[in-house]
Amino acid sequence: MFYSKLGLTTIKENPSDAEIISHQLMLRAGLIRKLSAGLYTWMPIGLRVLRKVENIVREEMNNAGAQELLMPAVQPSSLWEESGRWNEYGSLLLRIKDRHNRDYCFGPTHEEVITDIARKELRSHKQLPLNFYQIQTKFRDEIRPRFGVMRAREFLMKDAYSFHLDQDSLEQGYNLMHETYSKAFERMGLEFRVVDADSGEIGGNRSQEFHVIADSGEDAIAYCDEENYAANIELTPTLKSQAKIVKSKKRKEKKHTPNTKDIASLCKLLKVEPKDTVKTLLLKGEKKPIAVVLRGDHQLNIIKAAKISGISLPVTMADEKEIKKSTGYDFGYIGPIDLGLEIYYDHAVAEMPSLICGANEKDYHFVDANFSDDLGNPDTIDLRNAEVGDPSPNGRGKLSVARGIEVGHIFQLGTKYSQALKASVQDDSGKDVPLSMGCYGIGISRIVAAAIEQNHDESGIIWPENIAPYKVIIIPINMHKSKKVETAALDLYEFLKNQNIEVLFDDRKIRPGIQFADAELIGIPIRIVISEKGITNNQIEFRSRISQDSEMLSREEAIKRIIS
Ligand code: ATP
Ligand code: MG
Repeated sequence: MFYSKLGLTTIKENPSDAEIISHQLMLRAGLIRKLSAGLYTWMPIGLRVLRKVENIVREEMNNAGAQELLMPAVQPSSLWEESGRWNEYGSLLLRIKDRHNRDYCFGPTHEEVITDIARKELRSHKQLPLNFYQIQTKFRDEIRPRFGVMRAREFLMKDAYSFHLDQDSLEQGYNLMHETYSKAFERMGLEFRVVDADSGEIGGNRSQEFHVIADSGEDAIAYCDEENYAANIELTPTLKSQAKIVKSKKRKEKKHTPNTKDIASLCKLLKVEPKDTVKTLLLKGEKKPIAVVLRGDHQLNIIKAAKISGISLPVTMADEKEIKKSTGYDFGYIGPIDLGLEIYYDHAVAEMPSLICGANEKDYHFVDANFSDDLGNPDTIDLRNAEVGDPSPNGRGKLSVARGIEVGHIFQLGTKYSQALKASVQDDSGKDVPLSMGCYGIGISRIVAAAIEQNHDESGIIWPENIAPYKVIIIPINMHKSKKVETAALDLYEFLKNQNIEVLFDDRKIRPGIQFADAELIGIPIRIVISEKGITNNQIEFRSRISQDSEMLSREEAIKRIIS
């Protein structure tokens, strides 16, 4: 391909609205262009990378015996009403109407449509197990689309759905997808971790996520190499300490603490640390708010809180007015003593020798309160996010925390959708059995951004070879002034093309410095420079994007290195 035909404009400066490196580089290298919030055009070079990712996924899915199909992006509301998700899915779902005023949505995922296929096509257990997949555009009306294609509203996903007679077969199908995903991500040259995950919106039993490890990742992953444990922090249990608690001998005392509605100002005033305090959060409940009490420096885990009976879902904080109404007390000074609401305590609160808490009176806190004497030594539950240094849930070793970008997600759905949509097959005794299902997603477009987060330097992108848009870029120096350079460069270009090497030829009439900078920004793995001087010495400059060492090689040697 001739560079001048790409219609590509690179950008030197970082675009001001791009916060993370992959978004900056994708815009600067001209891989994507923004249309509107969360909507992007894939420009020619970007699309080449996207297709490479897509093809690796397709090949690995095919190798695993999965069958590709293509479902409509637009789905009728009636199917979503059958599964119950028309109401449950919330505002992520883009709802649309046709000319007859009938409701549709633009598919954020395809469990309903594939289950409809299954109930119509599958009759007998002899047709199982089966795995259907598609690679298709999804739409999710994300509350905060950001980071370019990393969290877009319209994006490309590979979604697969497997059908089984029973749980054993589902587990085999699930494990096969686990292996398949690992192979695909390895081929893409990505460093990733598989972590236990919440099944979220989709529902079901077991689920694991594939994360590309990167500092900019939106998810926190807790892991313990000693125990071979890894889970999304959302899901990592924290344990009740077995150690004996030495409680402070001091007695509870009420202190005047003006203007200390938040922990930071309270700590400043009392010269203590957040870990010496507790926070009492009031969550909306079905009848009255429900209080949860955590150590001041700990974070409430929403997924764990959602399991409290009587809590309103999704988990939401009660507002100041509701707090006043249900307790009579002022926001900012709420504490567990004499609160008059149902209270749940996190395990860690019971381990505090003494604690500082709101006194349920404006501008007052209790200090030196005691879990057993003043709070009545109640049972505790797991309510907080795990943190670095917490014991591993399996009991050996300590947790570390890394950041990750979720690029894949596999679920054992069980019979949630097949029961709702009545998709069953006959087993060998002729009895109707609801299908057991698995579902498996890969964020094709997100992977492109994730790969850049992991592979870049100050000059630009460094594509892993298997997903690079081109393998080689040829830069002829001042070709427009030298026939010799032009002939040698074009000759090598034709030769490489005939060898099926993907090669970009920089035919632009511009300064070599700009050509070099663009080649690095776009991240082509091999750069070949052809100059008059080189030709005179029978040499070509060869440079790999990773090592950055230029070497002068003979034409034959350079070709050998490119083809190898
Ligand atoms: P997230 O937690 O990041 O919102 P999710 O868990 O809702 O994602 P899944 O339903 O598991 O997403 O979708 C499968 C895959 O699709 C995800 O693993 C992710 O790689 C990709 N994906 C999901 N949402 C987006 C998005 N808004 N933009 C780009 N890719 C996405
Ligand atoms: Mg997910």
